[in-house]
Amino acid sequence: MVIIMFPEATEEEIAVVEKRLADSPANLHIQRTDGETLTIIAAIGDTSAVDSMRLESLSGVDRVVPISKPYKLASNEVKHHEPSVYEIEGTKIGGNHFCLIAGPCTVEDHDTAVRDAMICAEGGASMLRAGIFKPRTSTFAFQGPGTDGFRTLVEMKERTGLPVVSELTSSQYAEELAEVVDVIQIGARNMQNYKLLEIVGKLGKPVLLKRGLASTLDEFLQAADYILKNQEEVILCERGIRTFETATRFTLDVGVVPYLKLHTHLPIVIDPSHASGDRKIVPAVSRAAAAVGADGIIVETTENPENAKCDGPQQLFTSDFKEFADEVYGHAELLGKNPS
Ligand code: PEP
Ligand code: MN
Repeated sequence: MVIIMFPEATEEEIAVVEKRLADSPANLHIQRTDGETLTIIAAIGDTSAVDSMRLESLSGVDRVVPISKPYKLASNEVKHHEPSVYEIEGTKIGGNHFCLIAGPCTVEDHDTAVRDAMICAEGGASMLRAGIFKPRTSTFAFQGPGTDGFRTLVEMKERTGLPVVSELTSSQYAEELAEVVDVIQIGARNMQNYKLLEIVGKLGKPVLLKRGLASTLDEFLQAADYILKNQEEVILCERGIRTFETATRFTLDVGVVPYLKLHTHLPIVIDPSHASGDRKIVPAVSRAAAAVGADGIIVETTENPENAKCDGPQQLFTSDFKEFADEVYGHAELLGKNPS
C-alpha cells in the first residue's frame, strides 16, 4: 500500500500515520519518501492489516492505494513516478545524468588495472569498474586476484578520484569489499541468490544489480526489493539474456529501458560488453543504450585486451576509449542527459 499525503500535510500529521503503521502487529516495512510536492508512505507486508487501519480518515491523508505490482519497493508507485537520483562520491546517477562506468573486466595485474583506470578517467568516465572475485563458468579458468586485488581497487580510486564498482560473489569478504569500493556489484549469476542480496543490502553501500541471464523483468525487480529493504540506492543493469540466438554472446533488448522507466524509479544502466561479447559491436550498442534513455553504461576496456585472461574479445582498447566516450555522451545529450 502507499499512503499519499496531501501536499499541505504537516509533519505532525505524517508522524501520526507513520506511528499507526509502526504500531501494527503485522510487522510492516515502512518507507517514507518526500517528493517535490508531497510525501508518500509505503507500507509493505500484510495489506489487510493496513486496510483495517482506516488511514484515509486521518487528517492530512489524501488516499491509500495498493501497489499493484509483485515488486513493491522497486515500483514507480512508491515514488509517485519520480526517478531516483543518487550521488555516489560526487558522481550522480539517475534523472538527467549519464553515468559512464568503465574499466577492465578483471584486475589481472595491479599496474595495468591502475593505468586502465587513469585512461578511463582522462577519457571522461564517471565511475570505474574492475572485478577481483570472478564468477567463471570453468573452475579451471582465472578466478581473479581475490583479496590481493583490494589494494588495486583502492589505488584506482586514489589515482583518479572516481568511485569504483566491483563484484561480490559470496558472503565471504563482504565487509572487506564494502570498505574498499563505492558500489557493490551483484552479477547476473547471483541475481537469484536471495541470501546474498540480503547480505549486500546491509553493507551500507549502493548496489549495482545485474539482470539474471534467464530472468524476467518481474523477477529482476523483485530481486531488487530484497536489497531495497535495507539499502535505498540500487542501480539496475541490463546485460542481455539467453535466447535461441547465439550469434551475439547474449541477446540485448533495448526496449527494456523504456519498459523499466515506466515501472520502476531505479536508475538503469546497460552493459554492452557482456551483452555482445565482441568489441566491434560494443560502440553501436552503447550509443543505442544512451539514445534509448539509459542512465548509463558499464563497459569493459583495458590496455591490451588481446592478451586478457578474461573476456578479451569484448573489451575495448583503452586507446580508443576517449573517442568512444565522446560519441556515447553525444547520444545521451540528445535526451537531455549530461555526463555525471
Ligand atoms: C561482470 O560484469 O564482470 C560480469 C561477470 O558480468 P555478468 O554478471 O553480467 O555476466
Ligand atoms: Mn567481463
